[in-house]
Amino acid sequence: MNDGRPKVLIIGGGFGGLFCARRFGKLDVDVTLLDRAACHVFQPLLYQCATGTLSIGQISRSLREELADHHNVTTLLGEAVRLDPTARQVTARRPDETTFTLEYDYLVIAAGMRQSYFGREEFAAWAPGMKTLDDALSIRRRVFAAFEIAETLPPGPERDGWLTFVVSGGGPTGVELAGQIRELATRALANEFHEIEPEEARVLLFDGGDRVLKSFAPALAGRAADILKKLGVEMHFGVHVTDVRRDGVTVTRKGGGPSEDYAARTVLWTAGVEAVPFARHAAEVLGATTDRSGRVAVNPDLSVPGHPEVFVIGDLAGRDGLPGVAENAMQGGLHAAACIRRDLSAQPRKDFRYRDLGSAAYISRGHALLQAGPVKFTGLLGWLSWGFIHIAFLTGVRNRFSTVTTWMASIARANRSDRTFILGGSGHPEEPYTWESPVHQGHHSTRDGSERVPDSAAG
Ligand SMILES: Cc1cc2nc3c(=O)[nH]c(=O)nc-3n(C[C@H](O)[C@H](O)[C@H](O)COP(=O)(O)OP(=O)(O)OC[C@H]3O[C@@H](n4cnc5c(N)ncnc54)[C@H](O)[C@@H]3O)c2cc1C
Repeated sequence: MNDGRPKVLIIGGGFGGLFCARRFGKLDVDVTLLDRAACHVFQPLLYQCATGTLSIGQISRSLREELADHHNVTTLLGEAVRLDPTARQVTARRPDETTFTLEYDYLVIAAGMRQSYFGREEFAAWAPGMKTLDDALSIRRRVFAAFEIAETLPPGPERDGWLTFVVSGGGPTGVELAGQIRELATRALANEFHEIEPEEARVLLFDGGDRVLKSFAPALAGRAADILKKLGVEMHFGVHVTDVRRDGVTVTRKGGGPSEDYAARTVLWTAGVEAVPFARHAAEVLGATTDRSGRVAVNPDLSVPGHPEVFVIGDLAGRDGLPGVAENAMQGGLHAAACIRRDLSAQPRKDFRYRDLGSAAYISRGHALLQAGPVKFTGLLGWLSWGFIHIAFLTGVRNRFSTVTTWMASIARANRSDRTFILGGSGHPEEPYTWESPVHQGHHSTRDGSERVPDSAAG
C-alpha cells in the first residue's frame, strides 16, 4: 500500500481521531486509524443508550463505513499496546491476543480517558463506569434487571436493595444518569409492574463537592439541583464513596465523622477519569510529563516536547485551559492535521487555540442547561438547544434522523424503545445477572420469602 508517502498513524477514532483522519482526505499521505472498538461512539448520548431510549447503533458508527470515501485512510481494529519512538513503530493487539506492528512518520495519540476508581479497581466489578458501549449495555442490564428482580421478591430489605440505585459523581454524566433512572421509574415503568411500585425506586447521588455540575455557573447548577430534587433524586454532597460491594456502598464524609452504609444492588460510577494505559506508556517512552490523571504535557502546537512528529490531542492533551469535552478533541484533531499539512508544505506550524463554544447538560425531559459565554439557558429553551447541538454533532445522517424520530416518539408516549438487555457472558464470575452466576449453587428466595434448594438438588 505504501509508496514512500508520509505515514500518519492515528490512535483512537473518538472525536479527536476521527476529525483528524477526515482532514487528510485529499492529501498525499497514507493514514491509518487504529481503534480498539472499530467504531466512533458519541459519548454524550451513552446515558440514553444505558437507560433504554436509544440503541447502540444510533449513537455509534463503524469507522470503516464513516471513512469509506477517504481512499488514503485505512481503518484497523486493534489496541495499541507498545510504542517504540526510535523505530517509529506501534505494536497493536488483535482481539485474539496476537499482535501486529504499524510504522509511522507522524503519530497522533487520541486514545482518550477511561473511568478512574482512584486506585480501587475492585470497585469496577460492581460499579460500571460510563465510557464505552460495553459500559452502557452493562448499565442497561443492571438497571432494567434490578426492577425485574425486585418484582419477584417479597416486600422487605432485599427488594428495597434492588430498588435502590447509587450514582457516584455529580458531574454531567452522574446527573444525567440519576435523572434518567428516576424518570424511567416514574414514567416508562410506572404502570408495568404488579408487585412493585417502580416510582418508589430510590436514586442516591453522592459527590465530594458542594454542588452538582461544578463546571457550570452556580446559578445553572442550582437550577439543575432543584429539578433533580423534584424528580426525587436524593443528593448527598461533601462525601466520598469509599467502598463498593455486591450489595451496597460505604460513604465517608470528607471532613471526617462516621461512615455510613447504604444497601443498593445497582451502583454506577462516574466519579473520575484517568488516561488509558497506552497513553501512560507512550508518555513514559517519549519522556513526556503527565499530570495526576495521566494527561500528557504538550507544546503549544499539541506536539510532545522533543518529538515534533508525535501529537497528543483531545482528552489526553495536558495543557492549561483545555477541557475534557468533545469540542476540544475535534478542534485538536483538525489542528494536528493542519500542522502535518504545514510541515509537508514547509510552512511553520501554528499554536493551537481552543475556542470554547460552550457546554450543555441534560437534566430531565424538558430541562437542560446550556452555557456559552454570557448566554445561559435552562428549562425548555436549554432543552431544545441541547437537542439541536447533539443532533448536529451525531455521526451519520441515518443516526441523526433515527434519533430525532426516537426522541419524538418517546416524548409523545413516555416509552423507551431500546430496553432489551442480555444476560450471560459478562465475564465476571460473580456477576449477578448471568445464568452462570453462583446464585445457582446457593439458596434462592421465592416470592413468598421462603427458601428453595437449587434445581439440581431438588429432584
Ligand atoms: C458519558 C459521557 C458524556 C459526555 N458528554 C459530553 C457532552 O455532553 N459534551 C461534551 O462536549 N463532551 C462530553 N463528554 C466528553 C467527550 O465525549 C470527550 O471529551 C471526547 O470524547 C474526547 O474525545 P477523544 O477523541 O479525546 O477521546 P474519545 O472520544 O474517548 O476516543 C478515544 C478512542 O480511542 C480508542 N482507544 C482507547 N485506547 C486505545 C488503544 N490503546 N488503542 C486503540 N484505540 C484506543 C477508544 O476506543 C476510543 O474510540 C462526555 C463523555 C462521556 C464519557
